[in-house]
Amino acid sequence: MAWKGSARIKSPKRARRDLWIGFRPYGIGETKPNHYKEIVRTVWENRRNLPYAWKVLHKGVCDGCALGVAGFHDWTISGVHLCTTRLNLLQVNTMGALDPAVLADVEPLRARTGKELRHLGRLAHPMVRRAGEPGFRPVAWEEALDLVAGAIRDTTPDRLAVYLTARGITNETYYVAQKVTRFLGTNNIDNAARVCHAPSTTTLKRAIGVGATTCSYTDVIESDLIVLFGANVANAQPVFMKYLYLARKRGAKVAVVNPMVEPGLARYWVPSSVESAMFGTKMTDEFFTVNTGGDVAFVNGVLKVLLAEGAVDREFVREHTEGFGDLLETLEGESFDELERQSGATRADMERFARLYGSAASAVLVWSMGITQHERGSDNVAAIVNLALARGNVGRRGAGLMPIRGHSGVQGGAEMGAYATVFPGGVGITSESATELSERYGFTIGDRPGLTAEEMIETASRGALDLLYSSGGNFLDVLPDPALVEDALQRVPVRVHQDIVVSSQMLVGAAKAVVLLPAATRYEQRDGGTQTTTERRIAFSPEITGHQVGEARSEWEVFVDLARRVDPGRAHLVEFASGQEIRDEIARVVPSYAGVETLRRTGDSVQWGGRRLCEGGAFPTPDGRAHFVPVEPASVEIAPGEFRLSTRRGKQFNTMIHVETDPLTGAPRDALFVAASDARAIGVTQGDHVVVRSRVGAMGARVHIADVRPGNVQVFFPEGNALLAAGRRDHDSGVPDYNAVVTIERA
Ligand code: SF4
Repeated sequence: MAWKGSARIKSPKRARRDLWIGFRPYGIGETKPNHYKEIVRTVWENRRNLPYAWKVLHKGVCDGCALGVAGFHDWTISGVHLCTTRLNLLQVNTMGALDPAVLADVEPLRARTGKELRHLGRLAHPMVRRAGEPGFRPVAWEEALDLVAGAIRDTTPDRLAVYLTARGITNETYYVAQKVTRFLGTNNIDNAARVCHAPSTTTLKRAIGVGATTCSYTDVIESDLIVLFGANVANAQPVFMKYLYLARKRGAKVAVVNPMVEPGLARYWVPSSVESAMFGTKMTDEFFTVNTGGDVAFVNGVLKVLLAEGAVDREFVREHTEGFGDLLETLEGESFDELERQSGATRADMERFARLYGSAASAVLVWSMGITQHERGSDNVAAIVNLALARGNVGRRGAGLMPIRGHSGVQGGAEMGAYATVFPGGVGITSESATELSERYGFTIGDRPGLTAEEMIETASRGALDLLYSSGGNFLDVLPDPALVEDALQRVPVRVHQDIVVSSQMLVGAAKAVVLLPAATRYEQRDGGTQTTTERRIAFSPEITGHQVGEARSEWEVFVDLARRVDPGRAHLVEFASGQEIRDEIARVVPSYAGVETLRRTGDSVQWGGRRLCEGGAFPTPDGRAHFVPVEPASVEIAPGEFRLSTRRGKQFNTMIHVETDPLTGAPRDALFVAASDARAIGVTQGDHVVVRSRVGAMGARVHIADVRPGNVQVFFPEGNALLAAGRRDHDSGVPDYNAVVTIERA
């Protein structure tokens, strides 16, 4: 029987005219996404396999963002949960096989866009391209895996690395991949969480004892105030806008702290609400525009105001936290003049925010890449945690800390241990934990962290990596400085790309061989699979039969098969016969995932930790208390004529770009978002061609005037990666810095 949803929260019936934007039904004529047109386009794109497309939507757990939905219903609200991100991704789940002949010569393909490569069709057969050959030729699975196994046997474990991205990968695949990688003798396994929320998990663990969202989506809807820091949920998690809409209907306020006033956060038309679809909804009460990198200064200024105005929850601080005195000392040493200069916001802005926040009985603080993808991403997260603790906004109804995730598989990746710095369960790598896991698994596991994503590329650059195994992902698009990444990739003698479609990194040559392994999607995965959402819900997505593409295989099966070929004598130690067996083992090895083994049907789920973590101020730290982490603002100094540049997302999923014009802003992919006053100062206007230069690279762009804090500019990711310096990353978590200081000149 289909999952009907638990229909917990319904929209209040009373209209909120004060939130209306105007009388343009569905915002006709406005710059905004057109959901109904997207539905028609989705039908057209999937016309060759509509029955299967319907089954994926109807039965599957969404492989888009990590908000999470099973079929058309989630676990939070009544009514339909569907968005254009999911619709845009549907085609990769329904398309047919590519013609292997198109890969016989890769040179002509190198000029194609990612979208064009994707549309070649699904990878259907293992393929190999040896050094000197123009392209790939199909081979049997045995030949491909024997080649990989031979390369693994011919080298030492420290010269191997495995990377998994979050596109659709299930917990089962992550779990088996990490177990097999450690069976092969290395902790060199990492996943896409490293390049997004690594600072969040690291800092949350340190400060409150758990590296995950502390509340549920119901708390967002039941909150008095929702604050978005560096998160554009209208773009990345569209149905979150419906949660915000419901919260606003119930009287909640919404505040946004960001370098730019995002149009999608200012006004939105929720397509499944008649009132919102007809009249639009003012989604945000207050915007606070700050400098890129100015978040710590802004939050510290707010904390100073809260202290001065007696708005700190002293009882919570006294009963449940440590380190408040150190925080006070840090704040006392900072002047408002300096905090204004560094944050870009005024003292009046900080006071306005503090009064809004200080008068809210409860608040959920939400953040995303605008906070984490910085050289001091962990400090940014610490500042937000300090803010929450100062008002006791953790572990109670309508309150919480929410590092919102953009990709469906990313929350589970680190929790399953497919991570260079933790074992399954997010357990830190120490000699004790390594001994414990070794005893459990029956083979020796190293007690040193492995290579993180960017370190893999640095190691490859030095010629110290012999095999790079990449499940999904595209380092060429994801990491800073693409030229350097391409050079590094070619230095790895054997590269394996396990994926569902062709990506540009597959076309880069190698000293010995590049191997392509065709993967099944999450919906084709044998025996189904689970995914963990931002609110820690482990949701089951069943195997949906009726779509076998060539010889594509479930990814966990490939890892098991590889282990058999590398070391047949010991391979029984990593043997799994079914997805159920994997879930049974996950439940034993990761206690917080208990219950995952009981999930069988669409909509079956278990929320690890329950609705809220740290309930009642009980923090799972060694002393049972939360810890303030005092952080000082980092000054990003710019000279006259320079700008702080950050990277942003348009209509895309990770590096998969869906359309050339961003429906929320109307900007083309080569847009440079710049304030009108800055544009005037440079002597350019809307649409003018400019050259943007950083100390490592340059890119051509077109001026797009936007409501961005003067002195700051933005370009789309990954187009802007050429401006980013490799090797700059957050000291605690290893997330790369996706920002730069640039100059701009007319082209
Ligand atoms: S909001 Fe996220 S989980 Fe929900 S349908 Fe869209 S992509 Fe899927």
